[in-house]
Amino acid sequence: MSITSLPAKTITLTVATDTTNDRPRNLPILEQCKTIKHLHQFHAHAIKTGLIHFPRLTENILESAAISLPRSIAYAVSVFNCIEQPHAAAYNIMIRGYTLNQSPQDALCLFKQMREDSVEPDKYTFPCILKSCSRLRALEEGEQIHALITKLGLGSHDFVQNTLIHMYASCDKVGVARRVFDGMPERGIVTWNSMFAGYSKSGDWKEVVELFGEMIDLGVVFDEVTLISVLTACGRLGVLKLGAWINQYIEDNGLKGNAKLITALVDMYAKCGQIDTARQLFDEMTERDVVAWSAMISGYSQSNRCKDALALFHQMQMAKVDPNEITMVSVLSSCAVLGASETGKWVHSFIKRKRMKLTVTLGTALMDFYAKCGSVEQSLEVFWEMPQKNVLSWTVLIQGLASNGRGREALDIFSSMRDLNVKPNDVTFIGVLSACSHGGLVDEGQRLFDSMTRGYGIEPRIEHYGCMVDILGRAGLIDEAYQVIKAMPIEPNAIVWRTLLASCRVHKNVEIGEESLKQIVRLEPKHSGDYILLSNIYASVGRWEDALRVRTQMKEKGIKKTPGCTLIEVDGVINEFFAEDSAHPQSKEIYDTVDDMIKRLRLAGYVPNTAEARIDAEEDEKESSVFHHSEKLAIAFGLLRTSPGATIRISKNLRVCTDCHSATKMISKVYKREIVVRDRNRFHHFKEGTCSCNDYW
Ligand code: ZN
Ligand code: ZN
Repeated sequence: MSITSLPAKTITLTVATDTTNDRPRNLPILEQCKTIKHLHQFHAHAIKTGLIHFPRLTENILESAAISLPRSIAYAVSVFNCIEQPHAAAYNIMIRGYTLNQSPQDALCLFKQMREDSVEPDKYTFPCILKSCSRLRALEEGEQIHALITKLGLGSHDFVQNTLIHMYASCDKVGVARRVFDGMPERGIVTWNSMFAGYSKSGDWKEVVELFGEMIDLGVVFDEVTLISVLTACGRLGVLKLGAWINQYIEDNGLKGNAKLITALVDMYAKCGQIDTARQLFDEMTERDVVAWSAMISGYSQSNRCKDALALFHQMQMAKVDPNEITMVSVLSSCAVLGASETGKWVHSFIKRKRMKLTVTLGTALMDFYAKCGSVEQSLEVFWEMPQKNVLSWTVLIQGLASNGRGREALDIFSSMRDLNVKPNDVTFIGVLSACSHGGLVDEGQRLFDSMTRGYGIEPRIEHYGCMVDILGRAGLIDEAYQVIKAMPIEPNAIVWRTLLASCRVHKNVEIGEESLKQIVRLEPKHSGDYILLSNIYASVGRWEDALRVRTQMKEKGIKKTPGCTLIEVDGVINEFFAEDSAHPQSKEIYDTVDDMIKRLRLAGYVPNTAEARIDAEEDEKESSVFHHSEKLAIAFGLLRTSPGATIRISKNLRVCTDCHSATKMISKVYKREIVVRDRNRFHHFKEGTCSCNDYW
């Protein structure tokens, strides 16, 4: 419809009747200006007919350009500049326009001009200008404006006060926000919720819960927004009791249909460790948006139920709900734990397909996932693609390179990090030291360890001492490693002793091995792996009776062996194998493949190494055959179900045993497959008959 064809009379009428309204509103005629072109036409018409001399009409044109129509703020500026002596109302529109257009800096400049032109701001000026201060975190300006509000006596308007609370909270002055809140004679629900939002923003979860207590004591009626803030706080603090009370309230008041509330409940229960209650509520929801799915998936991932997290993620994909950043970070960390590379890769391709921004959090999660699945190249690729990196991204890369046996490169990356003035933290040093230990770089490791306190003022933690013990122990310097433990300024824990024990096994040092186990048993009596390690040390030097004695001791103390378990992902499904396991639906074919595999390996010269298994043979029939260890079953399944030449990736919860290690080396040669095995400590990249660990694990 053509604007110029509208009778001018309608406009005059509207202008005349519009004076009673408190706030300038768009005239109906202007609401029909759907494009900037329409507005131009109308503006020209107003000038021609003299209507432009009605200030309210000019303000309306201004409002259309500055607020209603998209991308027309420049036009608004030109209209504004034509007004000879703009009133507060015109300034307010422009300030609001700038604020809405994400130009808070311009809003502040215009406000300054308004003050210089001696135009007195009114109660509508302040909410917008304070919002701009919040966005810029401009505390100084905000404080000046607060003083002006008090001077003008406008401090009692609740919407002015609400934005003041918001401004102070955004500028990390939540205490001042609280003083404004406390000083208010009357507080509506919006005010309370502004205060809750302020505390949530600054992570003062305890204050949220306390404020809610005050609200209840005062008998103030709360709403959905309040409850969501409080439930979030309950989840962060683990305050299940209050969370459950809110759950009851929601049920009693028939609010169960409110998806946002139920999502907050799901999140609360998941974070309080009541993951099954969370799931029940989630399953009862009739509509689930991405926030609900994310809450449940990250709940599983944080409670270490990674298989459930991925299963639910596959359901989410089937429900055709697109994941957001939180979902993807949770999914990637679950994939990293399980070694589920297919699902993780899907997430990466999704990010590319949707051209999503590779934020530091998302990029780092992606890098960590690739590194933990043994795909270091991809991890590096993501790292270089990331537009922004923080110390965590660098640390993840260093750790990834180190655990994949690329210690030298890890140290090179560490130097570039220092060249770029990124300050390493204590976790970075764990990565750097483990790079030295996997790479056998003793002197380098010692130098870096010393530089921690001297160069960076970082006090070594038990983990750093553990790394030093590992560096020395792996290099066969068992005595030196033992001395490090004895000279530690902090009490050594079982993990440090266990590190030493593992080196004793590799270097067949019985004496210090015995001492280590003694210390471990004192500190952590229920751990089976240590007994097995010592027993293996005895076995490796042919002391079978001692080896058996340790196993018997372990049995007498009622310590059960942690069953070895290997995971392999095929077509997005995680398959789990235990030794001698026949639970898998394709069990028969898998065992046939194993038989065939062993035959082919024997032809190539494989001799089973039963040294470690032999001690168990008499007490546990299940462990008698090394052929049916969980990793062999998983590899056989991989051979069966993946195409020839494809890399097989498996992950094991314990150390890889000697026999499986040598068998896997031969499989990589005989079947011409790369096999990546992640065990409890590190990666083994098997290729053409050798392993990246150089048989040193
Ligand atoms: Zn094995
Ligand atoms: Zn290896």
